[in-house]
Amino acid sequence: MCLLNRRGLIVFLQFLLLAAKQASGQFNHDQHGMDWAGTCATGRSQSPIRLADNTAIRVPIPGIRFTNYNRVLQSPLIMTNNGHTANIVLPPTNNGQRASIEGGLLPGTFEADSVHFHWGSANSRGSEHLINGQRYDVEMHIVHKNARYATLAEASLRPDGLAALTVMFQAVPSLISTQFGLNRILDRLPQVIRYQSSTMIAGQLTMNDLLGRIPTGRFYAYSGSMTMPECAESVSWIVFLDSVKLPRRQIAKFWDLLDQRRHPLINNYRSLQAINGRPIFQRTLI
Ligand SMILES: [Zn+2]
Repeated sequence: MCLLNRRGLIVFLQFLLLAAKQASGQFNHDQHGMDWAGTCATGRSQSPIRLADNTAIRVPIPGIRFTNYNRVLQSPLIMTNNGHTANIVLPPTNNGQRASIEGGLLPGTFEADSVHFHWGSANSRGSEHLINGQRYDVEMHIVHKNARYATLAEASLRPDGLAALTVMFQAVPSLISTQFGLNRILDRLPQVIRYQSSTMIAGQLTMNDLLGRIPTGRFYAYSGSMTMPECAESVSWIVFLDSVKLPRRQIAKFWDLLDQRRHPLINNYRSLQAINGRPIFQRTLI
């Protein structure tokens, strides 16, 4: 018995092809996403964007409230080269709960899910958002999932599904750094040079260590998208104005990573997207 008619079969095969393409991560950053299709091309609330003090709406919104950010994350903490970035899946903390955030303009409680990075190269900077015209060396995204949704996949289909905390890294000539937590991660980058390689980050780390212990009172907030396919428009962005300084020799470790084609995985940032009238908020300190 034939379960599929001809058209059904074609649609099914197209689905398989798309699924395989996504699973193998067959998009690249050669054109900074200008060649990506679907919502990436047609969306009206895309990220990243240009952020600036003189265009943001200053509002006395509450600060971000961090829960379990001071608690040690369970082990193992694993970092993987997924061909697009170095990605760390975040386990719960040592009390069995997830680190989470609320406050700001966030529509609920959001649980920390994963951390990844965008970077440049030896002669270019690689942050995605620009702050007052400045592109930083590295941009770190801590992806959070709205606690009301069961999975990241489900959350990414909802406008209130995800929240991303963004921290900018600035390369400095100094050889010494007090960022013990972040340095522990950067020190492991030589173990994930090849596509699909993974490494374990040893020692005790808290989410506050990952945040670089920056002041978190000053931030931009706006509604946007993931900056890699499928570019889902489900992200409440929180971009901190205070940045982390790291030795250039540590930042340089990102530039050695390779993608699935064994090409250098560099400049993995997306081009700036149109704001299309979206309000961009900046928290004022009361
Ligand atoms: Zn990102």
